[in-house]
Amino acid sequence: MKRRFILIILIIAILIPETTNATTLKEYEDAVAKYTAELKEKEAKIAKSKEEVEEVKRNIAKIEGQIAQAETDIKNLEAEIEKSNQEIVKKSEESKKIMEYYQIEDGDNAYLEYAFGAETITDMIYRLSIVEQLTAYNDQIMKELTQLIEQNKQKKQSLEAKKTELSTLRKKLESEKERIIEEINGIEGTVPDTKGQIELYKNRVAYYKSKGCKSNDIIGVTCDKPKQVESNSSGNVTPGALIGPNGFRFPIDGGRISWNYGNGHKGVDIVKGCGTPVHAIAPGRVYYVGNTLDIYHAYMVLIVHNVNGRLVFSQYAHVQPNIQVSVGQDVDSNTIIAYMGSTGNSSGCHLHLEMANDYGWGYNTKYEIYIKHIINPFTYVPRP
Ligand SMILES: [Zn+2]
Repeated sequence: MKRRFILIILIIAILIPETTNATTLKEYEDAVAKYTAELKEKEAKIAKSKEEVEEVKRNIAKIEGQIAQAETDIKNLEAEIEKSNQEIVKKSEESKKIMEYYQIEDGDNAYLEYAFGAETITDMIYRLSIVEQLTAYNDQIMKELTQLIEQNKQKKQSLEAKKTELSTLRKKLESEKERIIEEINGIEGTVPDTKGQIELYKNRVAYYKSKGCKSNDIIGVTCDKPKQVESNSSGNVTPGALIGPNGFRFPIDGGRISWNYGNGHKGVDIVKGCGTPVHAIAPGRVYYVGNTLDIYHAYMVLIVHNVNGRLVFSQYAHVQPNIQVSVGQDVDSNTIIAYMGSTGNSSGCHLHLEMANDYGWGYNTKYEIYIKHIINPFTYVPRP
């Protein structure tokens, strides 16, 4: 069981190549294409959502028109109901008046007088029935009016129900509109970011093209290599700088060795005083800046140098956190990269200078490779 586990680890270790962080110009070109496509997609989505908002707005306007129409219809029905009610009152008063006119009163009754004033029986019956007919006629009208009121009330009720339904629909559409607008705002919020990415990678592509890089070139490895370290490459360094015939210099102006390389010490320790400027030992490109490579969190700068096409690393550890250079920056032996400090596992201000070399050129090589090839810094740097 345990053996199989180890075997799996071994297989995985073999499958993972040692140098994995090489960047080709094509990767940056692809990034430009990717973010450009992303931007286009976002813009299309925004345009589509804006159209959707317009459509919802049109629907809301339509529903508002329907609501207004329903309100008008309801008002008209109310007026009609009111009119019918008045009509009923009028008819009922008319009936009352007829009854009053023909009302039977003691001795003096106009109705009876009128009825008995008939000359024939037929005439009398006719006269008697006129009153009934008149009131029956009014009753009929009142009945019809009551029916009309009932119908109008029902119409009004269904209109009110419809109005409520339309209001609910309008509310739903309003929240739908809000949702789409929020979605648009959300996407629009990320547009500057995407545009920024396009800008960034476009600039990178333009920069490396200006350095002669082609699509399949590995940046810093097959194109845009740091300047080679040559015997004359130290240039006009500060007076007092110790320069070797190979072009490498001692990183501190003055200073003394407090601990040599060997017996478990992977570099040389140099002392001169806190805050002393630290120079790059030769022209090169900054590979790493920070305090996370070391488990003791010492601030350090890592520089790669191109020595006749051979990769050489230099490391400057325990420096103060205010490091003066950034990753990718080209430096020369006159550049102050940092100041002597005591960060990380250190008992006082000193510079730990460490070096490693590789057997080919690879700016993008891994730190894991670097630490396997530690060398005595005095292989390159002149000894004070
Ligand atoms: Zn040391």
